[in-house]
Amino acid sequence: MSRRNDISRRELLSYGLALGGALLPAFGSQVLADATANPFRESSTDLLIVGAGPFGLALAAYAQHNGINHRVVGVPMGFWRDNMPDGMLLRSTCDWSLDPMGIHSIDAYLNTLGKRCREVEPLSRGFYLDYASWFKEQKAIESVDQKVSALIPDGTDLVAVFSDGRRIRSRNVVVAIGFANFYHIPPRLSPMFPVEQSGHTCNLVDFRRLRDRRVLIIGGRQSAFEWTALIREAGAEAVHTSYRHDTPLFETSHWGWVNGIVDQMSTDPGWYRRLPPAEKEQLNRRFWEEGRQKLEPWLASRIDYPNIHLYPNTEVVHTHQRNQDIEITLNSGEILTVDEVIFATGYRVDMQRVPFLENSIMPGLEIQDGYPKLDIGFQTSIPGLFITSLAATRDFGSFLGFTVSARAQAEIIGDAIQARLESPQARPIKRLSISES
Ligand SMILES: Cc1cc2nc3c(=O)[nH]c(=O)nc-3n(C[C@H](O)[C@H](O)[C@H](O)COP(=O)(O)OP(=O)(O)OC[C@H]3O[C@@H](n4cnc5c(N)ncnc54)[C@H](O)[C@@H]3O)c2cc1C
Repeated sequence: MSRRNDISRRELLSYGLALGGALLPAFGSQVLADATANPFRESSTDLLIVGAGPFGLALAAYAQHNGINHRVVGVPMGFWRDNMPDGMLLRSTCDWSLDPMGIHSIDAYLNTLGKRCREVEPLSRGFYLDYASWFKEQKAIESVDQKVSALIPDGTDLVAVFSDGRRIRSRNVVVAIGFANFYHIPPRLSPMFPVEQSGHTCNLVDFRRLRDRRVLIIGGRQSAFEWTALIREAGAEAVHTSYRHDTPLFETSHWGWVNGIVDQMSTDPGWYRRLPPAEKEQLNRRFWEEGRQKLEPWLASRIDYPNIHLYPNTEVVHTHQRNQDIEITLNSGEILTVDEVIFATGYRVDMQRVPFLENSIMPGLEIQDGYPKLDIGFQTSIPGLFITSLAATRDFGSFLGFTVSARAQAEIIGDAIQARLESPQARPIKRLSISES
C-alpha cells in the first residue's frame, strides 16, 4: 500500500529540491529525510542505470561503446544470485548473449574456456553467472552495489537517493529492475497459509532447511517442476505438486525463431505495438506454448520418484493448521499434510510495487494494467525515465521477459538517450502522454 504524506512545495524548496510544476509529488517523510541528510554528497551523470542484471549490463556495454557518460547501480546479477537456486538449469541456449555489439557472446566466452556449446547445454545458472561476470569484466563495466531507495524528479533531472543519503542526479534514468518486485501469489491462496511456513519460488531458493520436510508446491510450469526436483534432491521427505491443468509435455522448447523477431525489434522498435491484435495474440500464444505448455525433457527423470506426488487438475480448497502441520484439502478430495508450502505462481507486473517509485514517481506515471506506458524508445510518461525488461512486455512483447531481448533493448534505449543528450536542454519535467502507436 502506498504511503502518501503530502508536503508543500515551499517545504520542498527549502530542502533544495525544487520540482517541475506539473509533477509536484508527495513524499514519505523518511524518503525526504534520506534525500536531505547529506546535501553535499551528490554526483551527476548523463545516464543512470538502476539494476545490474542482464538488461542493465547490456545497456551499460552499449553506453560505454557509444561514449555515453553513465553509472550503474545495483548488485551485479543480484536476482540470479539471490532469487534463483543453486543447480537451476536455464531454458535458454548459447545464442542468447548479452553483447549488443555481438563481440562478447556466450560463444566467445566458451572459446576462452576451450569448450563448445553442446558440452555446456543445458546451461546452468552457475555457468550463466560466470559468463555475466566475464562480460562485465570485458566491457569494463563498473557498478555500485547499492539500492536506490527513492527517485525524485527535480527540475529537468531525476535524483536517485540511496539509504546513506548519497544522491546521483541524471537527466536520464533507466529502471532495469527485472523480476523481483513482481512475484505473484494469488490473493485467494496467500491467507490460507502461515507466513512462516510458506513463500514464493522467488524467495525460497536455499533448500537445505527443507531436508526431511514435507513440501507442497502450488503451480505446474517449469519452475514448479524444477523446484520439485531440486527440493527432493536436497533431501525432502516428500514433495507434493498441485496444479490446475494437465501435466505439461516434457518436450524441448524451440526458441530459434525468437532471435529474428528481436533483431527486427532493434531496427523497428514499434513493430510489435503496430501488429493487429490477432497477430499479437498469435505471437504471444506461440511464446506461451513454448514456455508454459512444455517442460524441459531433462526434468522428466528427476521427478519420477516415489516421494514426488503430482496432482494435475487440482486446487487447494481448504487448509487446517495442527501445531506445525499444515493439513491441505484439494478439490479432488485428497488430503495432504505438509510442513512448508511454496508458491510457484509466477510474476505479474504492478508498478505500484516498486518501492523507490512509490511516492515521487507514481503520481505522474501513466500506467495500464499495472504496466508503465512506454514510447518506442522505452521512455515513460515522465521525460528521461525509461523502464525496461519484464515491465516492458505490454508494449514490446513477451520476449522482453527473457535475456534474448537484452541486446535489442540496449540499442533502442541507448539511441533514444543519445538523441535526448544531443537535443537542446530540456524544460522542467512535465508529464508526457504516451500515444498507443
Ligand atoms: C526461475 C526463472 C528462470 C528463468 N530462466 C531464464 C532462462 O533460462 N533464460 C532467460 O533468458 N531468462 C530466464 N528467466 C528470465 C530472466 O531472469 C530475466 O529475463 C532477466 O533476469 C531479466 O534481467 P534484468 O536485468 O531485467 O533483471 P534482473 O535479472 O531481475 O536484475 C535486476 C537487477 O536490478 C537490481 N535492483 C533491483 N532493485 C534495485 C534498486 N532499488 N536499486 C538498485 N538496483 C536494484 C537487482 O539487484 C538486480 O541486479 C528466468 C526467470 C526466472 C524467474
